[in-house]
Amino acid sequence: MKKQVIALTMAAIMMGSLTACGGSGKTAETTAAAGEAAGGVLTMATNAEFPPYEYHDNNEIVGIDVEIANALAEKLGMTLEIEDIAFDSIIPEIDSGKADIGLAGMTVNEDRLKNVDFSDPYTTASQVIIVKDDSDIAGPDDLEGKSIGVQLGTTGDIYASDYEETGSTIERYSKGFEAVQAMMQGKIDAVVIDLEPAKVFVEENEGIKILDEALTVEEYAIAVKKGNTELLEKINTALAELKESGELQKIIDKYISAE
Ligand code: GLN
Repeated sequence: MKKQVIALTMAAIMMGSLTACGGSGKTAETTAAAGEAAGGVLTMATNAEFPPYEYHDNNEIVGIDVEIANALAEKLGMTLEIEDIAFDSIIPEIDSGKADIGLAGMTVNEDRLKNVDFSDPYTTASQVIIVKDDSDIAGPDDLEGKSIGVQLGTTGDIYASDYEETGSTIERYSKGFEAVQAMMQGKIDAVVIDLEPAKVFVEENEGIKILDEALTVEEYAIAVKKGNTELLEKINTALAELKESGELQKIIDKYISAE
């Protein structure tokens, strides 16, 4: 009887300590998660292969999106952490909760809206065609039957994929610049990519040009986990402040010179 009481007491203590242990462990986790949402770390998933929005400068990731994210984090009282991953991994990373925001020159579209929520847009963009100076491709119609390079999973990929029906082949690269290099080497005929990175690639390389006709009109926005309205509202408020104060335009102007 005595033994049993002791055994029971021991069991109670053990259970108690286990609960306490599990409890405190859980509390620590919860605190960390709550900390991330308010006052802690703001994790930005991006793909730093997209100048002037995000790119490597020596060992640093810099660009318009990075500066916007820093300004937002500051307004939210948080510390920015950047995760440089494949472009098509950004949405899954946000969906799984590993990253808080996706800021990657990311265009709002119907398909993405099924998996993430987007902030108000912070800029407009378009897809353009890059070809060699001596190319016979002069506009979108000439892409029919050609080999077109894109960055995997981008709106350029979506746009160009429509041409598959015309016998075109789509070559999907993990970096936009790899597509440009392949074209310069004569492996593909054209590249479909966002205008601003196109301008950077054309400026930095001889013998290639951007065709005048823009293919799409798009808006870039910040992606957050679906249903995270708390973070989304904070971001929209901070973004509106950045627009209002002129700070957003200042950041853009630092990287993109007005034509
Ligand atoms: N704007 C394009 C998209 O959202 C490309 C973005 C990128 O390559 N970083 O798909």
